[in-house]
Amino acid sequence: FHALQHAKENCRGSYSFYNQGLEQQTRRHEIIQKRLFTALTEGKVEPYYQPIVSLHDMKVHHCEALARWHDDVLGFVSPAEFIPVAESTGLIKLLGQQIMSRSVRDFSELNRLLSQPIGVAVNRSPVEFNFNNDADEVIRFAESCGLNPELVCIEITESLMIEAPDEALKQLQLLKSRGFKLALDDFGTGFSSLSYIKHYPFDYLKIDQSFVTDLARQTDDYILVKTIIQMARNLGLKTIAEGIETEQQCALLQELGCDFGQGYLFSRPLQQQKLIQFMEQRV
Ligand code: C2E
Ligand code: MG
Ligand code: MG
Ligand code: MG
Repeated sequence: FHALQHAKENCRGSYSFYNQGLEQQTRRHEIIQKRLFTALTEGKVEPYYQPIVSLHDMKVHHCEALARWHDDVLGFVSPAEFIPVAESTGLIKLLGQQIMSRSVRDFSELNRLLSQPIGVAVNRSPVEFNFNNDADEVIRFAESCGLNPELVCIEITESLMIEAPDEALKQLQLLKSRGFKLALDDFGTGFSSLSYIKHYPFDYLKIDQSFVTDLARQTDDYILVKTIIQMARNLGLKTIAEGIETEQQCALLQELGCDFGQGYLFSRPLQQQKLIQFMEQRV
C-alpha cells in the first residue's frame, strides 16, 4: 500500500504501470479459473509421482503426488500458480478429490506389480479441511480401492494449524486413528512453531527445499538442518529433505542422519506409466 501511494504521489508513470500489472494479474487469474474448471471437468489435471527414497538404503519408500496440468491454450501451468487460484475459488475441492482418488487408485494398482508395496503422499490444502469432514473423504477414497491407510500420507503445511487449530487437531487425529500417515510440509519456511510438532500427531517432517539448495558444511543452513533433524528425532518424527539435486547435498544429509530424500537427483515427478518403469528398473 505504501509503495503504491509512493508511486502515485511521486511518479505518475510508474503508478499507471503498476495498475496495468494488477489488471493483467486479475485477468490471468480469471483465465486460469475458467480453464482450470474446464480442465477439471474433463479430467485433464493429473497426479505425477515423485519418488521419496530412504537415505539409509536408497530404496523408494513412497512417492509424493503432485498435480500436473497441461492446458491446450495456456500450455504447462505450474501448481505454484494454479493451486492458489483453485483455493480462492473453491475449485480446490474438486481438484483435491481428483488427485486423491487417482493417487489411491494408481497405487493400489502399482502395488499389485511390486513385491514390496510403496505408499503415496498427497498434499491437502488448509482450504480443503475448512470444507469440513475432509478426513472422512480421505478415508472413503482409500477404503474404496482397498489401499491400506498405512500407505497413504497426507501432507499439510502449518497454515492449517494457524487458521483452524482445533478443527485441524480433530481431523488429523481422526486420520491418524485410522492408520493414515501425516507429514508437516515445507518445515522452516513459516513460523515453524515447535508447538505444532508437539501437539499434532505428525509422522514426518519435511525440511523445505530452501535449506537444501545451498547446503554445505559450516553454513547457517547446515546448522539449521542439523538442529531440525536432531529435534525431530528426539520427538520421534522421521525427516524428509526436499529438493535434493546434487550428490553433495545427499551426502551431507546422510551424514546428518536425515531419513528420507526427494529431488531431481533421484527422479523428477513421473507419470504413472513412467513410475512403473522406474520402479521396475530399480529392482
Ligand atoms: P510441495 O508440496 O512442497 O512439493 C514439492 C515441490 O518441489 C514440487 O513442486 C516438486 O516438483 C518440487 N521439487 C521436487 N524436487 C525438486 C528438486 O530437486 N528441485 C527443484 N527445484 N524442485 C523440486 P510443484 O510440483 O511445482 O508443486 C508446488 C507446490 O504446489 C507443492 O509444494 C504443493 O504445495 C502444491 N501442490 C502440488 N500439487 C498439489 C495438489 O495436488 N494439491 C494441493 N493442495 N497442493 C498441491
Ligand atoms: Mg508436499
Ligand atoms: Mg514441500
Ligand atoms: Mg515446498
